[in-house]
This record gives sequence, structure tokens and C-alpha cells, in this order.
Amino acid sequence: MATLRAFVAVEPPATLVPVYQAARRFLADLDARLRWVRPEGVHLTLKFLGNVKIASVPVILRAMRAVAGRTPPMALRTSGVGAPNPDRARVVWLEVGGETAILSKLQADVEDAMFRIGFNKEERRFHPHLTLARARSRAVRLPSELTGTVPSAHFSVDRISLYSSELRPGGAVYNVLGHAPLSRSSGRG
Ligand code: ATP
Ligand code: MG
Repeated sequence: MATLRAFVAVEPPATLVPVYQAARRFLADLDARLRWVRPEGVHLTLKFLGNVKIASVPVILRAMRAVAGRTPPMALRTSGVGAPNPDRARVVWLEVGGETAILSKLQADVEDAMFRIGFNKEERRFHPHLTLARARSRAVRLPSELTGTVPSAHFSVDRISLYSSELRPGGAVYNVLGHAPLSRSSGRG
């Protein structure tokens, strides 16, 4: 049965490019030890699905659209370079702030909807972020002053997307399989 590797995410905003470049300059000393996500590949993961049957894609999109249709659009912003463990970072990300209560509710609803159509529950707590780079081999120590080091990107989210991911030696290549629009008529009136 034909499968593909899939995940649900928020697409990168165009406003991210200068922030991505600033983060890269800020971490220039570590460049040889980091593998950067392509700027157009940066995304905010809501749910990693893993290998799914291609025949299930319409079912997944339908479930996403039901959730998105009762979620209002939201305003988010990046808030500086960070990592789960800045002293021994395996990933470098941008923290995400703004209307994250709406985002967290959306993530929980996507999680529930995917559970109902047969996917496993994520055990890890949701921490909204945009992964920029991963350590090539050993973990890296990030500079101690991380806040305010790169400008913020402000962006509004008005849809979520289903992505496929093809793992390649040079880094994963993503493709959008479909969108699910958030609804202005939901939530905050
Ligand atoms: P690479 O694996 O080559 O470093 P990648 O992690 O970007 O690239 P995928 O492994 O296909 O590509 O992951 C796609 C998205 O899903 C990424 O945001 C990744 O962080 C997330 N993800 C991958 N595996 C898991 C997992 N087991 N649990 C939760 N999220 C995951
Ligand atoms: Mg991965």
C-alpha cells in the first residue's frame, strides 16, 4: 500500500525571511555545526502523522477542515532564537508568541481529530516554535543572551496545511498536499 510521511502545520510567513537571515548571522560562529532548514521549509508543526496511506489523505483533510472551520484566524509573532536546551542544543528554533491560546486550542483540536481517525496521541506537551536548524552531529552551545537578538516577525494565520515530507540526505523536502481555512465567523465573533 502506497504511503507518504505527513504532518499538519502552519506555513511560514513571508515576513520570516529577514528574521531567518538575522538568526543565521547571529549564529554564524556555529554555522559549520548546524544544518539549516531551507527558509521556505520552516513551519510550525501542529501534528506529526508519520507514514500515512495515500488513500487516507482526503480523510485527513476533511478532519482538518472540520477543526479549522471552528477556529478563528490568529495573530502570532516570533520572539527570538531559542532551543529546548540552549546549553546543549540539538535544534535551534524561534519561539512563537502572540495569540498562542488560540493556537494551543487549535493544536489540541487537531490532535483530537487525528486521534478519532486512528492516529496516536502525542505525549509531549505542545511548545509553539519554528525550527530553524538542527545540530549536525554533536549538540551546540547557544550564546547565553538569546532574547532580543533577532527582530520579531509578525504574521497572521488563516489556514493550516497538510504536508508531505520526503527525507533526503540534504534535508527533508516538504510539499503541501492541501489546506484547511480557519473561519472568521467562528470564536471571537
Ligand atoms: P529531518 O528528519 O531530515 O531532520 P524534518 O525533521 O524536518 O527533517 P520530518 O522528520 O519529516 O522532517 O518531520 C516533519 C515535521 O514533523 C518536523 O516539524 C518535525 O519536527 C516533526 N516531527 C518529526 N518526527 C516527529 C515525531 N516523532 N514526533 C513529533 N514531531 C515530529
Ligand atoms: Mg525529523
